[in-house]
Amino acid sequence: MLLYRINEKDRTVSIVWSINKNELLSASEKEQVYTFDEILSQLEDFRNNRSEIFENLRITMMSGLNERIKVQDLVKNVGSAVIQNSDNVFFKYYSNLLTIAYMNIGEPILMPKDYVKERFNHKKLVETARAELQKQFDEILQAMNDERNFDYSATGEILVATPRSQLAVIRTENTNIVYRVADKPLLTFFYEFSFAVYNAGLKVCECRFCHRHFLGTEEAVCCEREECLAENKRLKNQMIREKRKNSDYTRDMDNYTAYVRNKKKDLRIAKVSPYVMDEFDDLKKKCKSVVDIKLAECVEFGLPVAELAHTIEEQEAVIKAFRDKALAENR
Ligand SMILES: [Zn+2]
Ligand SMILES: [Zn+2]
Repeated sequence: MLLYRINEKDRTVSIVWSINKNELLSASEKEQVYTFDEILSQLEDFRNNRSEIFENLRITMMSGLNERIKVQDLVKNVGSAVIQNSDNVFFKYYSNLLTIAYMNIGEPILMPKDYVKERFNHKKLVETARAELQKQFDEILQAMNDERNFDYSATGEILVATPRSQLAVIRTENTNIVYRVADKPLLTFFYEFSFAVYNAGLKVCECRFCHRHFLGTEEAVCCEREECLAENKRLKNQMIREKRKNSDYTRDMDNYTAYVRNKKKDLRIAKVSPYVMDEFDDLKKKCKSVVDIKLAECVEFGLPVAELAHTIEEQEAVIKAFRDKALAENR
C-alpha cells in the first residue's frame, strides 16, 4: 500500500510508495519527501508525456494474459521501457501496481492448479482476467485524465465519496505520524493535493526564465530553481540601478530648470528691455532642446549621470554668458 501525508506549512508531500502492513513501523524510514513543485511537475509530466508508453504497457499485458506469458517474462519484455520511464514517480508506481495485478489476476491462467482444466476454459478465463485488469487501467486513466482532479483553484464542484478512507497512525516513543492510506489510482491523493495547493494560496504559474510551471503566489514571477532565482535577482538589481539613475537625471534636470529661472529673474529685476527678454526666451528654448536630447540619449542607453551633467553645465554657461552681457549693457 501507499501512504502519504501532506504538509501544507512546508509545502511538501511525504510518500511511502510501497509498504506491507507488517512493515508499518519502519514507514518513516521509507518516506520520500517531495516539494509541491516536484509533485506538480511529476503529475504534468505523467499526463503530458507518458500516455503512449502507458498504453503500450496495457497492450503488452493484455496479450500477455492471452499468451500465458509469465510475469517474469512480461517484466523482461516491458522492463527497459519501464526503467526508462521510472524517473516519473507516478509511472513507476502505476507500473509496479499493474505488474502485481497482472500476477494476481493472471494466476489461474499463468500458474493453474489444473492445466487440463485451464486449457479447456482458457478463453473464458482470459476474458475475465482481461476485464479485471482493464478495470484497473481504466481507474488510473480516469483519475489521471480528469481535469477536476488537478483543479488547483478549487473552483469546480467535486463530490467524492471514499467509502474506506483509512489512516495509518504510527506511534512510537517519540513519534506520532499520521499517514493516509491511498486508494490505488491515487484519486483522493489528487484531491487532497490540489486542495492543499489552493489552501496555501498557490496557483500554477509559468517561470519567466525557464518557462516551467511552478506553484506560486499571485506576485510570483519565477520558480525556485537556483539559476532562475539568480537571474531574477540580477534583473531586480538592474532595475534598481536604473531607477536610481533615472532619479539622478531628474534631479539634474530640476536643478537646470531652477538655474535658468533664476537667471531670467535677474534680467527681470534689472528691467532689461522686452526685446532682450524675448532673445533670452529664444536662447532658453534652444539650450533646453540641447539638454532634452542629451537626457533622452542618457535614458535610452543608461549613460552615467555625469554625461548629462556635462551638457547641462555647458548650457548653463551659455545662459550665464547671455545674462552677464545683458546686465552689463543695461547699466
Ligand atoms: Zn506553460
Ligand atoms: Zn525557472
